[in-house]
Amino acid sequence: MSGLLEPSVKIEIEIQSQEKKGEACPVATGDVSVNLENRQKGIDKANYGPMNPNEPNAGYWREVSKVWRNSPDQAKKSRCGNCAAFIQTTKMMDCIESGLATGDSEMDAWEVIEAGDLGYCEIWDFKCAAKRTCTAWVTGGPITDDSEMANSMGEDNGND
Ligand code: SF4
Repeated sequence: MSGLLEPSVKIEIEIQSQEKKGEACPVATGDVSVNLENRQKGIDKANYGPMNPNEPNAGYWREVSKVWRNSPDQAKKSRCGNCAAFIQTTKMMDCIESGLATGDSEMDAWEVIEAGDLGYCEIWDFKCAAKRTCTAWVTGGPITDDSEMANSMGEDNGND
């Protein structure tokens, strides 16, 4: 064994490192197949949905409320749009926009519905819609330029 990494492995490590440092766009914002794969994980593992949030989806909200042990009406208040994993910073929205502009033409039914309502889920690593949810929902979102700024100021103060 040479101990040297394959070039493709090196590139992947570099991309992941840049993503962690916030220097690169997440792969899923520019790669439809990665986005679909990751979205499917969110659906399978955490019931990401409902497919069309503009419909009543009584059965869906009942299922989610059972997991959270609350009522369907309460469950409906916990959506990607106010989840702590939902990123809508200017930088992330630029990544999503440039991904859509460069060949993300294979929009499926889910994406047609969610167009204009997107952010990036940092738990499942895919473009998700503000009106949907999943059982991994975390209070305290979304992540915006303002909330990032407030957090960094809080961290600065904490170091004094
Ligand atoms: S973790 Fe949050 S942002 Fe991600 S799919 Fe679930 S509710 Fe949406």
